[in-house]
Amino acid sequence: MADAPYRYKVGDIEVIVVTDGFRNVPVDGKYLSNASEDDLKAQLKAEGRPTDIMTNTFTPIVLKTGGKTVLFDTGNGESQVAPSKGERGLLNQNLAAAGIDRSKIDIVVISHFHGDHVNGLLNADNKTAAFPNAEIKVPAVEWKFWTDDGEMSRASPGRMTELFQNNRRVFDALGRKVTPYEWDKDVAPGVLAVGTPGHSIGHTSYVVSSGGKTVYVQSDVCNNAFVFAPRPEWQGFFDQDGAKAVATRKRVYDMLVADKLPVQAFHFPYPALSRIEKSGGGYRVVPISGV
Ligand SMILES: [Zn+2]
Repeated sequence: MADAPYRYKVGDIEVIVVTDGFRNVPVDGKYLSNASEDDLKAQLKAEGRPTDIMTNTFTPIVLKTGGKTVLFDTGNGESQVAPSKGERGLLNQNLAAAGIDRSKIDIVVISHFHGDHVNGLLNADNKTAAFPNAEIKVPAVEWKFWTDDGEMSRASPGRMTELFQNNRRVFDALGRKVTPYEWDKDVAPGVLAVGTPGHSIGHTSYVVSSGGKTVYVQSDVCNNAFVFAPRPEWQGFFDQDGAKAVATRKRVYDMLVADKLPVQAFHFPYPALSRIEKSGGGYRVVPISGV
């Protein structure tokens, strides 16, 4: 997807939004675990969206803060460019188009250990580091869970087992050289890491603040803006703990509404900067151009 990098400022911090591309997801009975295919279709129709396909976008950001260049999440990985016919895995080429040298990224912050966030840590060879000089910072809770052999042995077959295998593939290739970080502490200059568990056990969001301005970087607190904002009680198949994901979404979105905080979202339509309003029994995502 040939979206130009999108830039805005949060006080002294520069935010550069760099797309990794998209994936078309079928509308079927497997997408939601506590609502039906008909419910999903009706919701999409009410939002004026197509009812057969949902487009999931992948939107990492780079912050220039305190003299550091910091990348948040890495997309699907350059090895996915060819198999997806250029739909995704585009982060590296779009970083270059934004004038950002990957070898000069100081810190990569990972929000959680799903493939669309960690696979881009490796080059197209799936062996070498895509960000060779960066410190890789990972949520301590996430790191402990996915590297625990006991947890892996108890994982259910299918998605969870595959996630354990994928995470070991990626992080073993990096020699497991990472820095686990804690919630409620700064993970980069002006960036507070906050726990938003549910989607995964160690899923993390960020409060970016400078010069009296704040943006909340939600990662995957809400996936599809047209589905889970208006129906925050719905659970996706991709939520590790669906009930906790719902509770987290409502807690965070009530806070964003009350505090009038803009949100930068990994899976919202590019460039994925929005504000949240109360609407009916849920919320509405309103795209904005800056803070
Ligand atoms: Zn995601």
